[in-house]
Amino acid sequence: ARESYAARRPASAARHAEAAQVMPGGNTRSVLFHGPFPFTAESGEGCRVRDLDGHSYVSMIGEFTAGLFGHSHPAIRAAVLRALDTGVNLTAHNPFEARFARLVRDRFPSLETLRFTNSGTEANLLALACATITTGRKTILGFRGGYHGGLMTFGPGANPINVPHRVVLAGYNDLAEATALARDNAGDLAAIILEPMLGGGGCIAAEDAFLRGLRALADETGAVLIFDEVMTSRLAPGGLQELTGITPDMTTLGKYVGGGMSFGAFGGRADLMAIFDPRRPDAVPHAGTFNNNTLTMSAGIAALSEIYTPEVAVSHNARGDALREALQAAAGDLPLCVTGRGSMMAFHFMATPPRDAEEAARGNQALKELLFLDLLDRGYYIARRGMLALSLMVGPEECAGFVEAFADFCQIRGALIR
Ligand code: PMP
Repeated sequence: ARESYAARRPASAARHAEAAQVMPGGNTRSVLFHGPFPFTAESGEGCRVRDLDGHSYVSMIGEFTAGLFGHSHPAIRAAVLRALDTGVNLTAHNPFEARFARLVRDRFPSLETLRFTNSGTEANLLALACATITTGRKTILGFRGGYHGGLMTFGPGANPINVPHRVVLAGYNDLAEATALARDNAGDLAAIILEPMLGGGGCIAAEDAFLRGLRALADETGAVLIFDEVMTSRLAPGGLQELTGITPDMTTLGKYVGGGMSFGAFGGRADLMAIFDPRRPDAVPHAGTFNNNTLTMSAGIAALSEIYTPEVAVSHNARGDALREALQAAAGDLPLCVTGRGSMMAFHFMATPPRDAEEAARGNQALKELLFLDLLDRGYYIARRGMLALSLMVGPEECAGFVEAFADFCQIRGALIR
């Protein structure tokens, strides 16, 4: 399958060889790399991406949740043009930012106050900084399989590079291990950080008792509970914290909330966030040239107020649930699970759904690659690691076509999967 992939993409191969002369591995975004070389997209429109070799794909990965609005949404385009017309790089506050912040808080009320960043990675680093500063402690409790940005990848198998804190890791959904670690470190525990559903780690939902237990553990130890909702905030109007009924002390956001532009935000309890108030003599500076850039602010306003309204969030995720059920049904009795919630899902080549990242890693990874390549051949683009994030632009017809392509894969590759 790899050979036929490569043979059909000479222009992408040449582009990759050229890029490798100026960027390590020809790459500036590790997640996009796969062997033998990743294809290069020439353009995108609606839900479709076209590669340099003339193949067209329906994007079922939707920029790992950031691409909720597809590649050319007219309301996003208009919002960006409005911002361009006001002039960029004003080196001043602008009228977009407070309006956008208010929209974000209206949607996610636990962010009593918030600040913007340029990425989810930065948002997490700043939320953790806020926790260590306000508690005067240094240790962070995280979870294996968690992804909080390029500098905070908690495995398994990942090199956890450059984490600027002391991190202890428990298994996802393992409250007993988390409790033991938290109590061992109670005097120095600044924060407990987790995605309320593992996203990149395999779309593995948190069990209710696990989340409730972590809330209690944070209260018991005085640690700041941080939900990384960079991906999961799209799963309900108020994010997964609304669906689960568990309110964190701080939340980080990213991806689609900025309308598809560079975006991140962190916020939560006003008493914690107050350290950033520049009127305070002991204020912690949080600068960032592009934090309030008008392109993102304007696109984000359109995203939340014109497109991804609470009603649309509900119906879109119901569509995701239906797609996941249809895919699971198409797999029949093969040892293959489709996990996730709402508009986020992932394939696992195993008989029962994984509860944590270690279990997920035991699934057959070679079959994931085969699924990825076979689906590309049929005109559907998913993440190499088997993840999907349904965008608003992917309509009922594309969903039906995707289920059919997947059913085909199951039939043709059935013997290998079994
Ligand atoms: N947190 C989670 C849960 C993510 O999935 C990601 C990105 N995949 C990030 C943080 C980092 O966001 P960004 O890529 O914008 O830095």
